[in-house]
This record gives sequence, structure tokens and C-alpha cells, in this order.
Amino acid sequence: METKLRIGTGYDAHPLVKKRKLFIGGVEIPFDKGLDGWSDADVLTHAVIDALLGAAALGDIGGHFPPGEPRYKDISSLTLLKEVGEKLTAGGWRIVNIDATVIAEEPRLAEYIEGMRQNLSRTLGIKVGRVSVKASTANGLGCIGKGRWIETHAVALIEGKE
Ligand SMILES: [Zn+2]
Repeated sequence: METKLRIGTGYDAHPLVKKRKLFIGGVEIPFDKGLDGWSDADVLTHAVIDALLGAAALGDIGGHFPPGEPRYKDISSLTLLKEVGEKLTAGGWRIVNIDATVIAEEPRLAEYIEGMRQNLSRTLGIKVGRVSVKASTANGLGCIGKGRWIETHAVALIEGKE
């Protein structure tokens, strides 16, 4: 049997607003604003979910977890990621690696990156060495630079048997 490899990309963005907690990669980060959305608006976890779903050609996060559904209100996105990991396993897929870049002007994310990697890898049941999270800024440019939102780009590689 041949091994088949599939790659997927994910992208997500959420506005930064007052009176919301800030969750990125399942880590609660102290800040005077949080990301707005139906779930906990975890921009990193959402992009990773879409990269994994994309790699397996299983659609997108909105199709699996429609916003507006009461059971997803303020839910931890790690719960959604766990479900997606289980769908991949059920389909005979194994995660090779994940790489993601979170783009935020503020707050500084460096000290939380390890916690994000631990949360994502533990939730998916894979080694932390298979999960990379990087932080970048927009160098003051555009709406990210003005602190209006945070976005994330992610890629995932998975493998299965032909
Ligand atoms: Zn999202």
C-alpha cells in the first residue's frame, strides 16, 4: 500500500472588541480586549481546523459547526478541534504536521506560544513537535496594525493509505 499525502490551508480573522476574553490556541491571554465571534473566537484553533478539514477535503469549519447554533455559543474551540481530529482518524488519516502564523499587533504572544502548541497537540493526540505556532505583527500597517483584528494562516499535512 502506498502512503498518500494531502496538504490543506486555513485562514481566519476575528475583530478585537471590549468585554470579551482573549483565547488563542486555547490559551486565555490577559488583555483589555478579546476576539468577537459565536464560539470563543479562537482564531488560531479555527485556522488549524480549516487546514485539517481542507487537507482531508472535508469542507470547512462553518459547515461542520454553523455559527448561530446554541450548542456552539462561547464553546471552547478546542472541543471543535477534538471533533475534527476524530473525523480525520475515522477517515484513516494521520496528522504529519501543522504550521500556523498568528498575526497580531497586540498583545505580544511570544510567552504563550508554547502553551498554544501544547493545547493543540494534546487535543489532537499528536506530539508537540508536529505542531508549530509562530507569532507575527503587521508592523503597524493596516487594520491589524491598528489593533482592530487578529488573523491566522495555517497549513496542515496529513497522510493516509491508498
Ligand atoms: Zn473563527
